[in-house]
Amino acid sequence: MVERTLSFIGGTDVEPIEGHYADKLDPRTQRKIKEVANGGAKDVDLAVASASTALPAWRDMRPSERGRILVDIARKLREEGQHIVDIESQETGKPGREMATLLDLTAQYFEFYGGIVNVMDGEVINVGPDYHVYTRRDPFGVIGVILPWNAPLHQAARAIAPALATGNTVVAKPSEHTSGSLVAFAKFAVNHGLPAGVLNVVVGKGSAIGPAMAAHPVVRKISFTGGLKAGQELGRIAAERVLPLTLELGGKSANIVFDDADLEAAAAGSTRAFTWNSGQWCAAGTRLLVQENIHDAFVKELIDNVAQLRLGPDFDASNGPITTQAQFDKIKGFFAVAERDGLTPAIGGKVAVGAELEGGNYIEPTVYTGVRNDMEIAREEIFGPILCVIPFKNEADAIRIANDSELGLSAGIWSRDIGRVHRVAAGLEAGRIVVNEYSGGFVQTPCGGFKYSGYGREQGIDALSHYTQLKSVIIRL
Ligand code: NAD
Repeated sequence: MVERTLSFIGGTDVEPIEGHYADKLDPRTQRKIKEVANGGAKDVDLAVASASTALPAWRDMRPSERGRILVDIARKLREEGQHIVDIESQETGKPGREMATLLDLTAQYFEFYGGIVNVMDGEVINVGPDYHVYTRRDPFGVIGVILPWNAPLHQAARAIAPALATGNTVVAKPSEHTSGSLVAFAKFAVNHGLPAGVLNVVVGKGSAIGPAMAAHPVVRKISFTGGLKAGQELGRIAAERVLPLTLELGGKSANIVFDDADLEAAAAGSTRAFTWNSGQWCAAGTRLLVQENIHDAFVKELIDNVAQLRLGPDFDASNGPITTQAQFDKIKGFFAVAERDGLTPAIGGKVAVGAELEGGNYIEPTVYTGVRNDMEIAREEIFGPILCVIPFKNEADAIRIANDSELGLSAGIWSRDIGRVHRVAAGLEAGRIVVNEYSGGFVQTPCGGFKYSGYGREQGIDALSHYTQLKSVIIRL
């Protein structure tokens, strides 16, 4: 009997009401590994009803008790969560060592928000002796969480942990390509103390479930992580309902290397910036801006680093395959775009083949030099391991090129000049600036976009203000 991933609603597995399923292939082999529920609006209704029923008891629980449940889940996850990691590794193709990091991050979200909920409070506002005025933070109620496939558990945790910590209940919709780990996590959480119905997972395609969630009158807020097109479609429905959204969308982030940087560290960091998770990373540093007087030497060092990467299915590989067939085809299309625009790869530029890669959708990490920022390859988010190298003259030039993009998710700066670092960080239009490394920041640091990369923030204390609504209480004494 073939394995099936079902929705998890009210603490139990639920078959799709319409009875439809889709096949899930292993991205390392292209063999069918399971069937996945293809739910729809009726399944959303069921999940929202479950979240709504669970809401009063969860919302009215003491914050310290809610927090303890979340922290306990984090601890158990570290001790007993390997089966969830294995599911996600198989569904995404991620090497085991990357999954170990992502499991740790997932646990960190529950620890962070489970702890901080104890100090979350309103403030007293002094308007004079004849009044007592204060604010309080109320939960929204039922929150919808819509997720992509590139880091399923991590992205789920960063939205679900603050939503639950602040007293909301959740209906989550993982990507139809990678639903298994979130379903397994929700079950695990319920088995370790989360009341049934507080976290529900509806499995199926976004085009059916996303709009149904946004249009549902009981859903009071949606946190969406994914592409611009789906985010915009959601935004149109949300506008009708005046439904608050957090939109975490794509990026085409600039990673800027100045001539005074530690070039060895910058070459290693800039390699990771565009190849981590085979480039399937919203914040990937895919436009590498290099000061022109170090350009040639730096590119050589970079290519030496890229050449060291090893693709494959095993635990220690640098990178795995591209997770979905559609994404694999899209990336290949950009090789043709680059060729059309007269570019030749300095390294890579094709599908990776080899005995251990047999059957998998692997892409060679690819570097294009001589790219102009107005070329299609420098403007579109590719979401694969393809880097555009663009030279610049000076600070002002670097900021101008970096900001000449409709997207503004993240940026990197490599420099030993502290004054320059602050000037450039202030000038860049991006939600996160990372200096002298290229990383995704920390659970404690806010994450979100400028411009078409979205609005609202996940991670950090600030996320709490996106999962609560502020109320003023004005008392005439
Ligand atoms: P996607 O937009 O295709 O899908 C994201 C989710 O939205 C999926 O669950 C999908 O089923 C659902 N969906 C699809 N159509 C929808 C609709 N009309 N209404 C509502 N939901 C719908 O994105 P993807 O291919 O899964 O993920 C890749 C994208 O996600 C990239 O653009 C990447 O940059 C972005 N991303 C952003 C962040 C961030 O933090 N900013 C993090 C990870 C990924």
